[in-house]
Amino acid sequence: MFKKSLLVLLCSFSAYAQAGFEVITLGSKGGIQDGNLTAFLLKDSRDTNYVTLDAGTVVNGLIVAEEKQAFKDLDIPTNSPYTNVGYILREKIKGYLISHAHLDHLAGMIIASPDDSHKYIYSLPSVNETIAKTYFNWQAWPNFGNKGQGYQLGKYQYRDLSAQTWLPIKDTSLKVKALPLSHAGIESSAFIIKNNQQQVMVYLGDTGADSVEQSDHLNSLWSTLAPYIKNKQLKGIMIETSFTNKVPERSLYGHLTPKLLLEELAILEYKAGGKGSLTGLPIVITHIKYSLLKDINPQAIIKQQLIAANTFGVNFHFPAQGERFSL
Ligand SMILES: [Zn+2]
Ligand SMILES: [Zn+2]
Repeated sequence: MFKKSLLVLLCSFSAYAQAGFEVITLGSKGGIQDGNLTAFLLKDSRDTNYVTLDAGTVVNGLIVAEEKQAFKDLDIPTNSPYTNVGYILREKIKGYLISHAHLDHLAGMIIASPDDSHKYIYSLPSVNETIAKTYFNWQAWPNFGNKGQGYQLGKYQYRDLSAQTWLPIKDTSLKVKALPLSHAGIESSAFIIKNNQQQVMVYLGDTGADSVEQSDHLNSLWSTLAPYIKNKQLKGIMIETSFTNKVPERSLYGHLTPKLLLEELAILEYKAGGKGSLTGLPIVITHIKYSLLKDINPQAIIKQQLIAANTFGVNFHFPAQGERFSL
């Protein structure tokens, strides 16, 4: 009896010390490299079912992740008629969270749809509407959705997200809220995701800075996140930095540079309790644009520009395609 309760205590203690979430990078770039466009798998670290954060690249991302052993801990039944990639796509990915309807954030989902299983698409209402109108309409692609033009195949069911209500992601141990972001005239989204341990992570789709976009969407997001930082519930932030500091603000088209991201982090730090409040917080940098120029490595430059001005003590992370990491 004593042994059993000690075991339970040890298990719950180690569960508390554990990371909250596991992420696998299916696609790390913000364009233009087809086969490596923005998409991540996310799951609670105690669960085995995933949801995607955007879906620019899906099947190719699964192939690369499988080659890099990202799924080595996953039990894949040997009697499955599917390949490992097929099994994960059809059985382990339970839904798509789509931040906005730009192609580099959902092309992988559309292309995989004929062989995919029934799933939910979780987005802000404006994004779901654009997906239904623009892609699943029997003109760009068959209507695999459950609304919109023509016969509805109903493989995907749209679920509208809101900033107010935690919506459970079916067949996972996650719940999600979505806040709007400004992205060059269209509505993008930030997903705030919570597990059963009340741990929280946030993923931002494409976004400009409030100062450039004449918006207060990031300001509102930082206000929403501040209490989670104070309560030590926030496990990490995934946010874009598309361009280096060299790109002028008029040419950013709703994206961030290191300078603008750091300005936004200063606002978050202030709201979260001031100097030192972000120390150790993982910040995952997404959506770095692939460069066709011979002597330019945007990732190296962005890394250097962020690290050189990191007065917050945050942990910047630059995920590579196929890589698994914990938050
Ligand atoms: Zn994008
Ligand atoms: Zn975009």
